[in-house]
Amino acid sequence: MTDDDIRGPDKMHTTMTESDKGDQGTGDPADVVLAKSQAQMAEIASRHGTNPQEGKEVVLGLRDVAVAYSGTPAVRGVNMDIHKTLVTAFIGPSGCGKTTLLRSLNRMNDLIPGAVVDGTIHYHGHDLNASGVDAVEVRRRIGMVFQRPNPFPKSIYDNVAFGLRLHGMKDNLDDRVEKALRQSGLWDEVHNRLKASGLSLSGGQQQRLCIARALAIEPDVVLMDEPASALDPIATQRIEDLVAELKNDYTIVIVTHNMQQAARVADMTAFFSVDVNESGSRCGVLVEHAPTVDLFTRPKDERTEAYVTGRFG
Ligand code: ADP
Repeated sequence: MTDDDIRGPDKMHTTMTESDKGDQGTGDPADVVLAKSQAQMAEIASRHGTNPQEGKEVVLGLRDVAVAYSGTPAVRGVNMDIHKTLVTAFIGPSGCGKTTLLRSLNRMNDLIPGAVVDGTIHYHGHDLNASGVDAVEVRRRIGMVFQRPNPFPKSIYDNVAFGLRLHGMKDNLDDRVEKALRQSGLWDEVHNRLKASGLSLSGGQQQRLCIARALAIEPDVVLMDEPASALDPIATQRIEDLVAELKNDYTIVIVTHNMQQAARVADMTAFFSVDVNESGSRCGVLVEHAPTVDLFTRPKDERTEAYVTGRFG
């Protein structure tokens, strides 16, 4: 990741309008950034209310979660609840363990040699890592969309039908494929060429195809690892719009290096940072998890404030 990627507030700064400039206060760039983000947050607060978690069931409960690779800690001490039908964004500088933690939420770390997950992750109250829990079924219920669109070298139809066939969900295959393509906003663009290769689609369409593939098997939670970072701005906007629609039916956790994106799409935001101990070893920690509007406008921790105002990358 480049420095530029994590300088979301500066991008907010560049989009500031003349009327925004009236709120600049001291003229300190950090104040300008804060003023702009506050305007955005006021708008978000009006859409979401201030406590998006209120009355929502806990889907994933994390207690003292730590992940290490071959004995080297990557992230530790994570305690948080992720609530139903909300979008939760993981933000923070590169290497603070966002992707690692995301992968632990559907046991994808099982597939990485040397990765060890400690602590407990409860999914609807059940320990995800308990013996006897089927990791394949976990990944059916908790789907994942990756940073780079990765359609299989198969037809559009077969890409979406892939997981359905794998999980024996073969009834009404055509209907299920159509439903998933409609949910991912791709149906109108591909319904007359379902036999064409998934690889013939544009990057943004390929990512929506991967989202359709994830949705077809009827998950409950969708994990998204920087799903728009490889896409152009128009395709990015379509993904963001889609996330906003999908949260009516799904619980979504999204890793993003783009703070503006977190501000636009997330109800809750978790900020991670890297702790460096006396011996110089680095490990990711969860600093603050709060309603997005609070995290950006009234951060409780000075590390969060430094990050969201662009004083620290
Ligand atoms: P982020 O998503 O915040 O950029 P990551 O979760 O990718 O952070 O990485 C956190 C730490 O774990 C980093 O030090 C990274 O080098 C390490 N790491 C990530 N994936 C692996 C892996 N497959 N094997 C060994 N170390 C890894």
